[in-house]
Amino acid sequence: MRLILLGPPGVGKGTQAQFLIDRFEAIQLSTGDLLRAAVREGTELGVSAKGYMDRGELVPDGVILGLIGEKMKELSGKAVIFDGFPRTVPQAEGLDKLMEELNLEVDKALELTIDDEIVVKRLGSRRSCPECGRVYNIMFAPPKDEGVCDDDGTKLILRDDDKEEVIRNRLRVYHDQTAPLSEYYSNVGKLLQVNGDGKVEEIKARVEEAL
Ligand code: AMP
Repeated sequence: MRLILLGPPGVGKGTQAQFLIDRFEAIQLSTGDLLRAAVREGTELGVSAKGYMDRGELVPDGVILGLIGEKMKELSGKAVIFDGFPRTVPQAEGLDKLMEELNLEVDKALELTIDDEIVVKRLGSRRSCPECGRVYNIMFAPPKDEGVCDDDGTKLILRDDDKEEVIRNRLRVYHDQTAPLSEYYSNVGKLLQVNGDGKVEEIKARVEEAL
């Protein structure tokens, strides 16, 4: 199973990916998580990606495709849930080419849909651990002790890319560059659409039904 999760930032792709990993015994490939880890570790990739990420812009396609190519070769044939990738038509085309080289195929693209204003509210209440990357939501999934990470006690922060003006920019970028992927996958009969508004369990049930 090779499944792509589409949808704007903050719609809950990462949360649904967690359920799908269990169900399909799959590996989650999140380009956002890979990039954030690279930024934390201060690698060359992280240094070059950070500026784009802080502004809510997309990291160049060539960088992302290189990253995914490396990971896919390591994963040799395992089930994969792509989270936050592809983000542009050239990335989708690059993925198709890579899949062909590896004799694999994308099975479905599952799009979670949601209103922009709900995203702004959800992401604005998100807090992250700068040490381990764990994400909390002060409204829906707060840490046990206010303001600190359950796992390592580090003070939680509002990520630069979760600030309102940056969120609005990420949504603009999403509508301009990523939304055309619905048509890309619909044209080849692979698109599934699910309403991403509501409680996590409700959305999970909709996703299961769609699949
Ligand atoms: P995410 O956590 O998926 O929303 O990603 C956070 C940030 O990482 C995005 O705002 C982009 O700057 C960058 N990023 C993640 N995935 C991609 C991708 N597939 N293509 C380009 N940039 C990406």
